[in-house]
Amino acid sequence: MSLRFQAINNLTDLEEVKVEGPSKITAIFGENVFTLTKARQFLSDEAYKSLIASIKGSKKIDRVVANQIANGIRAWAESKGVTHFTHWFQPLTGTTAEKHDSFFTIKSDGTAIEEFDGAALIQQEPDASSFPSGGLRATFEARGYTAWDPSSPAFIIEIGFGKTLCIPTIFVSYTGESLDYKAPLLKALESLNKSAVEVCNYFDKNVTKVTATLGWEQEYFVIDEALANARPDLVQCGRTVFGASPAKGQQLEDHYFGSIPERVYAFMRDYENEAYKLGIPLRTRHNEVAPAQFECAPIFEEVNLAVDHNTLLMDIMSRVAKRHKLKVLLHEKPFAGINGSGKHNNWSMATDTGVNLLAPGKTPKTNLMFLTFFVNTIKAVHDYADLLRSAIASAGNDHRLGANEAPPAIISVFVGQYLAKVLNDIETRVGDKFDEQDEAILKLDLHRSIPELLLDNTDRNRTSPFAFTGNKFEFRAVGSAANCASAMTVVNTIMADTLKTFKKDVDALIEKGDKKEIAIMHTIQKYIVESKKVVFEGDGYSEEWEKEAEKRGLANVKTSPLALDAMITDKAKHLFESNNVYSHSELEARHEIELEKYIKKVQIEARIMGDLAINHIIPAAVKYQNTLAENIKGLKAAGLPESAYASQLDILKQLSEHIQVVYTKTDAMVEARKIVNNMTESRTKAIAYESQVKAPFFDEIRYHVDKLELLVNDADWTLPKYREMLLLR
Ligand code: ADP
Ligand code: MG
Repeated sequence: MSLRFQAINNLTDLEEVKVEGPSKITAIFGENVFTLTKARQFLSDEAYKSLIASIKGSKKIDRVVANQIANGIRAWAESKGVTHFTHWFQPLTGTTAEKHDSFFTIKSDGTAIEEFDGAALIQQEPDASSFPSGGLRATFEARGYTAWDPSSPAFIIEIGFGKTLCIPTIFVSYTGESLDYKAPLLKALESLNKSAVEVCNYFDKNVTKVTATLGWEQEYFVIDEALANARPDLVQCGRTVFGASPAKGQQLEDHYFGSIPERVYAFMRDYENEAYKLGIPLRTRHNEVAPAQFECAPIFEEVNLAVDHNTLLMDIMSRVAKRHKLKVLLHEKPFAGINGSGKHNNWSMATDTGVNLLAPGKTPKTNLMFLTFFVNTIKAVHDYADLLRSAIASAGNDHRLGANEAPPAIISVFVGQYLAKVLNDIETRVGDKFDEQDEAILKLDLHRSIPELLLDNTDRNRTSPFAFTGNKFEFRAVGSAANCASAMTVVNTIMADTLKTFKKDVDALIEKGDKKEIAIMHTIQKYIVESKKVVFEGDGYSEEWEKEAEKRGLANVKTSPLALDAMITDKAKHLFESNNVYSHSELEARHEIELEKYIKKVQIEARIMGDLAINHIIPAAVKYQNTLAENIKGLKAAGLPESAYASQLDILKQLSEHIQVVYTKTDAMVEARKIVNNMTESRTKAIAYESQVKAPFFDEIRYHVDKLELLVNDADWTLPKYREMLLLR
């Protein structure tokens, strides 16, 4: 019996995993995190103060104190039965990495003890030479090292391999270049902090720190594990390369916000509990539009922590799913014909005085501060749309962007009708002769529109890649499998840079004699005019928008290899270098790594297609052909007229045609791959993988395979079908 039928048979015998939940979430929340409360408990006063200072980024920890902190963390971890620790980091492969060491060690005199010293807390050398480095580490100095990030607390993972203490770290080369997602993100956040504080000080001298905030919404699919395991494409590339649409897809929309299926519900409660213990503040769970698609979202947090929590959660979800014999699919497009998955990044900035900088203010004065940050965001998106596009580029996300479910590859900003009016008012009323009185009146007028804006929660455009949603921007084009750090590093860097320029522009006007608020209004007005073309309020999924965007001169780069070009333009290099986020060589390396990732993904998909076509599809089709041929032969021999087996003959003919195309196209694809594989330059190769392997072959081969699926005897078809994966549980 094929794996497919074994999996289907087993479905009915599956027992639901019992999930014990806490009576209250607060009872377990943060249980496995070395929170400040625990730090207070396990650390000396000196060590505690030192830790706090280094969390704030103001002080390096010295060796003696590091030993004390490490001891405290170990004592806490041991009190929870932990024997091993690991530096936990986010290499550019897109998953998280760990290398476990035990506290256990033997001293020179032979005594066995448990130990975790400051050095082990602060720095480690994982044997990580096989992580992508884009050529930054020549092999003779292939080792990179991980360094403790005190701004994200240590935690204990207790699923899978027993209990392990995880120390969040950055991953850098010996020459100091970053090799992970976290190091540049931290730098971008620091850059934003600096320039945002300066701009805040125009309005409020008490602001000394600005933190960027992120609330992600994670979409994912969940299907039966045994069915997933019977699909080599799902196992190896996370998406189905073939599969005919089921009779019942998402057209009924009965899954969306419907009741959550029992087995999935148990799984959700289970991973949520694990997440709560790890301090991940999950808040919402619901079904998504496509069958078997779901979403979860936490309460927003400081960006670095939110990114850690998202990567950690993706890992936890996959591990917990195993307990339920389920498989989580984080790929952007696991199934053709139904929606793919994204990860909206809700982003804002908050001051240490407790103000959300993207929330309209309560007074005319705070409103001007809001408008400043609001307009600067639009300007940043306008000036660096190409970088935002590159930050979300991946082989997986290419399937999603521009399909009729996700924003197009055109980057635009949605602001809503009230703010559109506000922007328009500023644009038209702030002229050369604009004086203090005009300013006062305009400010009051603008202030009057704000309550309307706050009341209006319905004004939401779900087709925009970058939408203002009342008190934050929502970057909606991010892919579900992505590390949010990639998008967040760009968003925060371009914002930092735009604010820096804003400060310069305003100061220049003040220098010339403008009063501060007039200078701010003038600059805001100038930015509105300059970035107007990126603001779009209509249907982002429509064809008219593509045409309109082209007229406006907005880019619409549909494939990753080309979208990635934006990473290494002179403009990008200047931006990242002057904000101390990436050096030129780091950018070049990252560009190279992204291209390589793209090449590998498409290459693997092409191989899988070939494998499935030759070893699964054609054999099943040929078997059915034989049955039909035998049948026709028999009917003929019995003396029946041709009309008696005309249908069989017709099916037989169709089968032959599709088999021919599948075979010849697969063969041609292999040849095309050989040519492309000989290319040495990554960019050329990635472009060729898209234009010479993927574009000319993938869809066409799939079309004929899916036709065969609809013709061939169901009993002979070895790959689980869409209807089984999506609708059975
Ligand atoms: P929707 O699906 O309508 O977009 P959700 O409630 O699912 O709304 O998601 C909203 C997300 O926005 C949540 O993750 C929430 O934490 C986040 N969010 C709310 N306020 C902020 C903010 N100031 N900064 C960042 N994220 C925020
Ligand atoms: Mg949302």
